[in-house]
Amino acid sequence: MTTTQLKAGETLSPVPPEPQAHPHRLVLLGPPGVGKGTQAELLSARFGARHVSTGDMFRAAEALSKSERTPTMNRAVEYMERGELVPDDIVLGILVERSERLRSGGGFLLDGFPRTVAQAEALDKCLARIEIQLDAVLDYDLPMAKIIARLSGRRVCPNCNAVYHIDARPPKVSGICDVCGTALQQREDDRPEAVRVRMDVYKKTITPLIKFYRSRSLLVRISAEGTPEEIFERTIRALQKRQNKAGKALVKP
Ligand code: AMP
Repeated sequence: MTTTQLKAGETLSPVPPEPQAHPHRLVLLGPPGVGKGTQAELLSARFGARHVSTGDMFRAAEALSKSERTPTMNRAVEYMERGELVPDDIVLGILVERSERLRSGGGFLLDGFPRTVAQAEALDKCLARIEIQLDAVLDYDLPMAKIIARLSGRRVCPNCNAVYHIDARPPKVSGICDVCGTALQQREDDRPEAVRVRMDVYKKTITPLIKFYRSRSLLVRISAEGTPEEIFERTIRALQKRQNKAGKALVKP
């Protein structure tokens, strides 16, 4: 299997961020619709870290016509549209292919990856090879009823990937992207049938992943209640607290 064939799904951070004095290397976990993508964008703007979203890669592949896609892409898109996880062999192929991005001088924000323990183990190995360590794994948490409300009202711009919500973050003109004027769409996998599948998949896969990162002392739990800006401030405070703790630990006798 060659994942090079997924290259047409390339959308993210084409320009490598500037090297930073303290690069941030973070994984963002949390159920679909919790706002990981929005937080990754905000964190990326603050830290200059590269936002890497496997979901965006698959959606870019989905935006192509069937005949433009390779068999690997078609396979990935079929899983995604049903709300299921794309098989590990495809996802891990992408990781290997793009591991250079993890060396980025500004650090990285992994959004939607890893989703399984096999993916987390592969990421570990990949980072060990390039002698890089994760700083933290942010685990965003929100009650299920609120997640469903967020997902059903979410609208996205198929052109520039801007994300809106019909109640919480409406565009200035209903149904039109503020940034580029394109008609907004509902994601295929935000339809109720697919949402149910995605939630079931999430519930089954998240517990072992949380255990995996907790045992490595990387897990930082963050409430995803409130506005994106409030969640962002909470994230920054949680990261600062973690850094302070690490700093204190260093000066301990
Ligand atoms: P997301 O936007 O992260 O919720 O991803 C949308 C969809 O892309 C998921 O429901 C999966 O079908 C697929 N996907 C994204 N990332 C992964 C991953 N790391 N492993 C398996 N499937 C993924």
